[in-house]
Amino acid sequence: MPFPHRLIEGYGAFLHGRLRLEQDRYRELAEAGQAPEVMVIGCSDSRVSPEAIFDARPGELFVVRNVANIVPPYAPDGHAHGVSAALEFGIAALRVKHIVVLGHAHCGGVKAFAEKAAPLTPGDFIGNWMRLMAPAVQKAGPQQNLSWGDYLTRLEQANVANSLENLKTFPNVEALIARGEVALHGAYFGVATGELSVRDEATGEFRPAAASA
Ligand SMILES: [Zn+2]
Repeated sequence: MPFPHRLIEGYGAFLHGRLRLEQDRYRELAEAGQAPEVMVIGCSDSRVSPEAIFDARPGELFVVRNVANIVPPYAPDGHAHGVSAALEFGIAALRVKHIVVLGHAHCGGVKAFAEKAAPLTPGDFIGNWMRLMAPAVQKAGPQQNLSWGDYLTRLEQANVANSLENLKTFPNVEALIARGEVALHGAYFGVATGELSVRDEATGEFRPAAASA
């Protein structure tokens, strides 16, 4: 199979559009290196691109995406940890000031976990990965009289809170927060509505960001 035509076409649009406008910026960034102030930990979901949602220019966002925007807890066990490696680079080398965990509506990973979906392959990599959000289920509490859709929303938002809590298990993150050099934030993107909500750190509630935009 050839390289996807859609990508060639898209690159053409970039080449004649955005690159022309941003050429100087790309050169500067190549020479001086990147210095993004914001790190975003988001979901791999194709509908939830942080660069699109935040209208980011090159060099502005340091992004990690994985299934269901999960941050595993600090585990210095000598194994390979992708999110932890990116986090280490983001805070120790790039010195980002903000870390945003971006959750979203209709998250397939959260849904699969909530519905106890059967493994997709014998490796059950998603199942093992999603088990990291077990504390979020506790946080979300029982479904009670919530519709399944509303319960999933609550779970998706609790999953953001769980990732934020896991970020604090990294000793260097905790130290930077204490010194006021790094701030953690939670956000949630409503795919159908395009509405972005930001988590209130004091109450844990997600409130529409448009009011302050
Ligand atoms: Zn997702």
